[in-house]
Amino acid sequence: MQLPDAAVALDKIDSCIQELVTPQQYRTWFQSLKITEITQNDITFSVSNNFLREWISHYYQDTIRKAVFQVYGRNLKISICSDPDSESGNDHIKTKTSGSNRTSREKQPPVRNRDYHQNPALVSRPGNPDIVLNSKYTFDNFIIGPSNQLAYAAAVAVSDFSSLTYNPLFLHGSVGLGKTHLLQAVCHKQLITSRERKILYLSCETFTNQFISAIETGDLRNFRNKYRHIDLILVDDIHLIANKERTQEEFFHTFNSLYNAGKQIVLSSDSPPSEIPTLQERLISRFKWGLVAQIEPPNFETRFAILRKKAHLLGHEVPDDILNFLAENVNTNIRELEGAITKVIGYSVLTESPLDLALSHRAMRDVLKTNSSKITIDDIVRVTTKKFNVKLSDLQSKKRNQSITLPRQICMYVAKKHTPLSLQEIGGYFGGRDHTTVIYAIDKITKAMKNNEQLYQNVSDVMIKLGKD
Ligand code: ADP
Ligand code: MG
Repeated sequence: MQLPDAAVALDKIDSCIQELVTPQQYRTWFQSLKITEITQNDITFSVSNNFLREWISHYYQDTIRKAVFQVYGRNLKISICSDPDSESGNDHIKTKTSGSNRTSREKQPPVRNRDYHQNPALVSRPGNPDIVLNSKYTFDNFIIGPSNQLAYAAAVAVSDFSSLTYNPLFLHGSVGLGKTHLLQAVCHKQLITSRERKILYLSCETFTNQFISAIETGDLRNFRNKYRHIDLILVDDIHLIANKERTQEEFFHTFNSLYNAGKQIVLSSDSPPSEIPTLQERLISRFKWGLVAQIEPPNFETRFAILRKKAHLLGHEVPDDILNFLAENVNTNIRELEGAITKVIGYSVLTESPLDLALSHRAMRDVLKTNSSKITIDDIVRVTTKKFNVKLSDLQSKKRNQSITLPRQICMYVAKKHTPLSLQEIGGYFGGRDHTTVIYAIDKITKAMKNNEQLYQNVSDVMIKLGKD
């Protein structure tokens, strides 16, 4: 049987779903639905977060099954996965026909998510098929507050292209605070205002993978040609270049070549340049040449404004007391805020109950419970000192014998992984140590865990005791 192209299938399935649910349910649950893979017998969908996946799997499995049946005339095995990256639109939909392992990426142009399918002008243009963006990540949809003001202003300035004052622009901050959103907003603005400029938006992982393929196929010349002849490059999550020596080397040359040619470079990272483990000094210094702007967690007012905006984008007006409740209780990052507002609206739609504070409390019960069980550095120290039979005062002392150093380094590693503390704060906790000591500890434990089984077990034991296995 001939399989319809994934994009066509998605559009058809989508229309069927729209007939089966109310417009409100569609807006709340199905907006991010995409097809990630189709074979003769299976179809895999993705949605943008775990909560949506669970909800759809639980309540709408039947709806999707009916829609698939209408399109294919038979039942396919349906899987639904969550893919946070799918929100950034970075991935490409794949189709597979049985007997062939070739993906559509090799044969056909990438198929974008729905928003873009309807608005192709915004995604690609001649000579630049790579650029695939999330239509919602625009400057207009970005709420500004003290925590992100500088990053926002610098991103706007870069997108104006009038000068190279901030070159490179280096944005850093923890996960879910809007780095990808700002990078893509720069792209959107560029695509609208200066269509002839060549821009390249990609993740550090894509750069690394393409570099490795170029080495494997002996096609470095093409690779370099592609990366060194653009007007604006935006590399998301550049911290993933840590521990990749050859990629760092190559990126160093890409950077120099673009910089010297007066091209704009924008980078995002989860930590400032000097805190990216194993990053070569020469890259650290280059990353600081322009503007390094940090995005911090939003304050209450910004969280409130973001919640209102997100509710609006979901097509709902949510009363202030609910926004207040959510802004007060969800204070980790913006992705979580989005999850919270989606969840509350979802509860109301599904149970057909009015959107009030009592319902919001019910909807958020589990999330708030998990938040309150967040681990602290004191928990980490308590578990680790017990396991290694050492005292906190030892960990905080200047002692450097192995029996003390190892548990101290494990604490630092776990603290970085599971608490929001900065490297400075972690170093400070352990006897006022410098942040470079913490970087060293994290790097050492990360590497040692790969080939030292005993150490791996010890770290796992600590994580399990903390409920983070
Ligand atoms: P990061 O790349 O820093 O991990 P993202 O850019 O992916 O974070 O942001 C996570 C989510 O939060 C996205 O859906 C994004 O649209 C939203 N978001 C982040 N910052 C803001 C903001 N200031 N205003 C509105 N939405 C935001
Ligand atoms: Mg990101």
